[in-house]
Parts: sequence; structure tokens; C-alpha cells
Amino acid sequence: MFLKRVLGWQNSKLIGKQKVFIFCIIFLIIMVKTIGTLHKEAKELERKGHLGIYLEQLIEAQERKLKMKHLGRPRIIIDMCGHGIHRNGRIYIKYLDEELIYHELGHFYLFKLHSRIGLAYPEVDENKKITEWWGARNSLLSEGIATYFEKGINGRADDFNDSEYPEAIEDFLTNRLDFLLRLYYSGGYHLVKPILDGFGIEEGCKRLLLNPPKKEELTKLPEYRKRVLSGPVNCN
Ligand SMILES: [Zn+2]
Repeated sequence: MFLKRVLGWQNSKLIGKQKVFIFCIIFLIIMVKTIGTLHKEAKELERKGHLGIYLEQLIEAQERKLKMKHLGRPRIIIDMCGHGIHRNGRIYIKYLDEELIYHELGHFYLFKLHSRIGLAYPEVDENKKITEWWGARNSLLSEGIATYFEKGINGRADDFNDSEYPEAIEDFLTNRLDFLLRLYYSGGYHLVKPILDGFGIEEGCKRLLLNPPKKEELTKLPEYRKRVLSGPVNCN
């Protein structure tokens, strides 16, 4: 109501597109101000050396909820340019977004698990572009597992169906952005959830990393999931 009164909204002669444009500008200004304030607050915590304690509390909550143990501790860096990037054991964030940190802790866990089982951690494309089938495969597993770490805390449901997985490899690479985001995050989660639920996080992740989908399985993901769920795998 306040915004409407300020703009003389109801009686104005502005056409629909102009109203939407003005609303977007106001929304953007509020968002930038909010993010700026949150960033300053996080920087202050970083300056006082309190980020470690904050992170430890999140890690303990995640370990309790997911019944797992993290493999070490990442370092959190408050950086206005790096919202939600995990790189070499460091998590770069603009401000303290707990859901995002829980997600990035999943990437950090995978980073440590790769070296524990003697696998090279896949290189991440800075532009997050996926142009090859194996990039699609790596992203599905990695984002699926990180989303499991996040949803395990926020309790959001699995809302993806097997029928939504593409039947052609090209559809994993060139598609609408909203479809690709849903595919890699919600679709990745839907793929790995039964495996992590069934075997627990450590063994489930090992099974996935040691038995990633083959090229021909990328277009038959429900069958791949069955193979991992039923196949004997030496995870030691
Ligand atoms: Zn991620």
C-alpha cells in the first residue's frame, strides 16, 4: 500500500510496462542496500575473528541432522564478488547466507573425499559453462550432492520426476537456463537422494564418485541409479 500511495499508483496514467520498470528499479535499490548491509555485517564478524565459531555451529548442526562427519574445515571468505563459490577448500560468499553455506559445505565435503579416495577433483569452469557430456555428468553429481547437504537442513521436498531427465545428451548442454538450473540442482538431487539415503553420505558419495554415469547412461539416469543401488562396490 505504501508504495502505491507514494507513486500515486492507482490514479497514475503510467502504462503497465512503465509500472513494472519502476517497481523493478525500486526493488533493485532495496536489494542492493540490503546486500550491502549484510555484507558489512559479515565483514565485521570476519574482522573480529568470529567467522570460525559461526561456521563451526553450522557444521555441527549439519553433522547432527545428516548423521555424518565432515572431513576437515573450510575457510570462509567474505567477498563481494564471490557469492557461493567453493574453491580449493575456501568458500567465497558476499554475506552469511546459511542455506548457501550448507550447500557449499557439500562441495567442500566432496573436495576432501576426492583426495581421500585418490581421485582428482574436477576442474570447475569459472563461467559455469557445460559443453561436454562429462561436464554434465560431473555437475549432476556435484550439484546433486551439494543440494542434498542443503535440503537435509531446510527440509525442502524432492520435487523432480524421472520423466523430466532429457533423452538426448544435447539437452544437458544447450537448453533454457531455467531448465538447466532445475536439471542440475533438483534433478541431481533426485538422482543421488535414494543412494545417499540408502548407504549414508560417506559410502553413498564414494559409490557415486567411483561409479559415475557412463556416456550412454546419462540419457538413462533411472537405470544408472538402479545400478549404483544394487551393484557390489568396494568402497574401502
Ligand atoms: Zn553448488
